[in-house]
Amino acid sequence: MDPTPDCATCGACCREAFDSVPVVDTDERTLARQRDLVVHHDDGWRDLQRTAAPSGCGSRCAALIGDGELAPYRCTIYDDRPAACSELEVGSENCHLARRRVGLST
Ligand code: SF4
Ligand code: SF4
Repeated sequence: MDPTPDCATCGACCREAFDSVPVVDTDERTLARQRDLVVHHDDGWRDLQRTAAPSGCGSRCAALIGDGELAPYRCTIYDDRPAACSELEVGSENCHLARRRVGLST
């Protein structure tokens, strides 16, 4: 297991590793400042908009830019990102789960 993965070349948790980034009531900054990115579903679930992954398989958060090679992966709403993102620590179990799902960690 890579103990210090690099987010700029990874982006796993923002792209195909997960298929939804939840936005909950306590994500006040996201709800107030990123309204265009928040999707309100009929069943009450809220999450961030997704875009098709360049690979054609899966999707990624619409706030993510970069490709991890020519341009580092970067969150365009970093200060307003929901807790689901800010609470995911680099090097944590969920980080490595995300990386394994995209083939970056063993
Ligand atoms: S999966 Fe881990 S290393 Fe990759 S972008 Fe997310 S926090 Fe960073
Ligand atoms: S809001 Fe930012 S940190 Fe959260 S999944 Fe999207 S790009 Fe990643």
